[in-house]
Amino acid sequence: MALGPELRPNWISSVPSSLSSSLDQYVLPAGARLFSAGDVGDAAYLIVSGRLEVVLERPDGDLVLSHRGPGEIVGEMAILDHQPRSATVRALEDSRLVVITEEQLAHRIAQTDPILRMCLGVVLARYRETVGMLEQMRGAGPPTLQSGEPVAAETFAAALGTLSLESEIRAGLRNGEFELFFQPIVRLPSRRLAGFEALMRWHHPTRGLVPPVEFIPAAEASGLIGDLTAHAFAEVGRVFPELMDAALRNPQALDGPLFMTVNVSGRDLAGASFPEMIAQFLESSRIAPGNLKIEVTESMLMDNPERAAATLAECRRAGVGIAIDDFGTGYSSLSYLSTLPVTTLKIDRAFVRTLLADQTSRGIVQTILRLADDLAVSVVAEGIEQAAEADLLGQMGCAFGQGYHFGRPTALAGALTAIATWPAPAATPSGLRLTA
Ligand code: C2E
Ligand code: CA
Ligand code: CA
Repeated sequence: MALGPELRPNWISSVPSSLSSSLDQYVLPAGARLFSAGDVGDAAYLIVSGRLEVVLERPDGDLVLSHRGPGEIVGEMAILDHQPRSATVRALEDSRLVVITEEQLAHRIAQTDPILRMCLGVVLARYRETVGMLEQMRGAGPPTLQSGEPVAAETFAAALGTLSLESEIRAGLRNGEFELFFQPIVRLPSRRLAGFEALMRWHHPTRGLVPPVEFIPAAEASGLIGDLTAHAFAEVGRVFPELMDAALRNPQALDGPLFMTVNVSGRDLAGASFPEMIAQFLESSRIAPGNLKIEVTESMLMDNPERAAATLAECRRAGVGIAIDDFGTGYSSLSYLSTLPVTTLKIDRAFVRTLLADQTSRGIVQTILRLADDLAVSVVAEGIEQAAEADLLGQMGCAFGQGYHFGRPTALAGALTAIATWPAPAATPSGLRLTA
């Protein structure tokens, strides 16, 4: 890393010691330069304290372009567009800096939305042009720096791909291409039907059946997720009476009143109108609040914890259940469990898949079951594919199970058939398989 000799390590007192040992931090003394125009950039710097100036140095005098202070970043441009430093940066006061290497920045940029990457590229190119023009106006000859690279072909292609996927989702919503599938959730150990999880599918005009992993992230990034969620609730409202009627015709299939779980996104929870949407849904549908659960993942709660907590609390006040999806894979702190009105934990498939062979997984499942017991919340084990897994989970005290062993997600017709033909508990201990 091209750090001048005037830079020396110095740990920031307010940074926890666990972090300070892993952070590259330096003090740049007043008057020292961090880098000079034309240098090759290999790092950017977060300014923790102090003050720096960005200058164009010329024999006839320096031109100060900007001042940077705590909470800002400096030196990022050369990393973002792989061109030489456009200006010199000097410390006006002793300044504490945290180093971000080129690798750390480049990795993050590569992960961002291609449209954002394009915008960033254009902003940088414009800035380079402005600096070049300033140089020219001051008689420093033609700009030494190019006016920005053309956007990389793959970034452009990715941006077009993102936009086209978004417009296809929009068209798909208009054309009724999104359909809910339903996967049974059963009582353990009785294996009676308890409810269904609603899972979205996209009947794409040319690609066939598209799984949610291929369109939910794009819907979230573009803001279309709200429309998809609204569509899911509208569909649940439409089909739930049919499912209930089927359940009434085969009461031995069921254990208690049928419930339905719906996946919602962090974006939904952040929106102010979500509780209102739920309230309207409950008013206009035949589903009792206690028979509706919304599923959220831990990571969603962490995006905007206060907002998510307020939204979930309102839903819970309306009587709706709150399930934490993929439990055990997300956030490492469990403190949210004491503040959020959680009613169900869904043990992630990763633990169930390895349950029979791996003692550690079994320990984790046991711990989650004990925790749920203490919190008086119910537990659903996800991804049960074998009878032996269901048997063991039942013995361990897990109240609900879900997975291909009991049934794959199916369209409404498959769910109605499942209810009508659901075996009596003793008849088929290995459960019923449905096809998607
Ligand atoms: P999830 O909520 O964790 O849903 C469970 C996923 O595991 C489903 O995948 C289901 O088909 C699959 N699965 C269930 N049992 C088994 C099993 O025994 N073995 C294996 N290998 N897989 C099993 P799917 O339907 O592809 O959904 C993927 C994810 O997409 C969901 O994960 C959920 O996070 C999201 N998703 C689905 N529908 C919606 C929706 O309407 N809205 C939102 N926001 N997200 C949704
Ligand atoms: Ca789920
Ligand atoms: Ca899950």
